[in-house]
Amino acid sequence: MRPIQMVDTRNQYLKIKNEVDKAVLEVMDSAAYINGPAVKEFASNLAAYLQVKHVIPCANGTDALQIALMALDLKPGDEVITPSFTYIATTEVVALLGLKPVFVEVDKDTFCMDIADLEKKITPNTKVIVPVHLYGQAANMEAIMQIAEKYQLYVVEDNAQAIGCTVTFTNGEKKKTGTIGHIGCTSFYPSKNLGAFGDGGAICTNDDDLAEKMQMIANHGQSRRYYHDVVGCNSRLDSIQAAILNVKLKHLDVYNAARQKVAAYYDQAFSGNKKIITPITAAFTNHVYHQYTLKLNNVDRDGLVAFLADKKIPAMIYYPVPGHRQKMFAHFKTEQQDMPVTDWLTERVISLPIHTEMDEEQLQYITHSVLEFVNQ
Ligand SMILES: *Cc1c(COP(=O)(O)O)cnc(C)c1O
Repeated sequence: MRPIQMVDTRNQYLKIKNEVDKAVLEVMDSAAYINGPAVKEFASNLAAYLQVKHVIPCANGTDALQIALMALDLKPGDEVITPSFTYIATTEVVALLGLKPVFVEVDKDTFCMDIADLEKKITPNTKVIVPVHLYGQAANMEAIMQIAEKYQLYVVEDNAQAIGCTVTFTNGEKKKTGTIGHIGCTSFYPSKNLGAFGDGGAICTNDDDLAEKMQMIANHGQSRRYYHDVVGCNSRLDSIQAAILNVKLKHLDVYNAARQKVAAYYDQAFSGNKKIITPITAAFTNHVYHQYTLKLNNVDRDGLVAFLADKKIPAMIYYPVPGHRQKMFAHFKTEQQDMPVTDWLTERVISLPIHTEMDEEQLQYITHSVLEFVNQ
């Protein structure tokens, strides 16, 4: 059996090696390393794929979130509502910009923003909602957009884990995650569903003014060469990464389908087991399974991780410490907040290997091993 990894970027690369190598060599030959044609081509291809008006490539997903928030004319202390149950980047940029992160609970079945709690967390200082499409499944964007409209708030989607995921609205309309809020942010970190061979990120919007402003912020606040209108930063997607992403974007739907197939195998293998709760997909969306995350019911999780490690099966806890318990937010007194669902999930989740290169032999071995421990 081939060794099992959480992600297998190498074997994914080998399948498209000729195409990728050619694209990279072209950039090297052209010497257009910064903002070369490959970057513009990728931005335009991604905009077409997502069906969004503007795509602004940038250096990574964290920068994408930071630039998005910088574009919204917020003032110190303005409140940004985000889940506590997410990767730290989502909430860190809020505090970095002198804004106040306000944590909202997630739904215990979908792991995404809890709509009832969202409305409870809104105050006169609330300016932005940042839903996270966690593990590859969309948050309830229709409900979130309705609330945002009611309270006149911006919505910045953290789409780092769900590129390619589709939301179906009650009127039948379909939209890709990252194109529904005022701004969508994504990451091309190698292990993401659309991964580069290094860092990368992008910002999407249908708003012309926001697009112009974010483009400017990502480039030192420059309106024309050496004229800097606003304080910005330096955040660029490398031409080489853009060339690789241009090749991989063509395979994204196939990659996501391969992840869904792995998830279906796991679902079937674990179905009916009372100690394992398999992930649930909400009716308004599909799931592109950036992670396959189980909830354990009366199982010694550390014991399971160690048991699997012994069998050379990696497993991960995303995330062991939720935002409201992170030291970096201590001065916001977030630890005193009552977040029972988030705390409950934090103690029970476990993510199994899922990627585009898994075979049935590996899946059989993983599921048998998990069941062996759980049923002992
Ligand atoms: C990966 C990730 C980010 C950050 O992306 P980087 O490219 O690593 O900066 C932000 N939010 C979520 C939910 C992520 O998974």
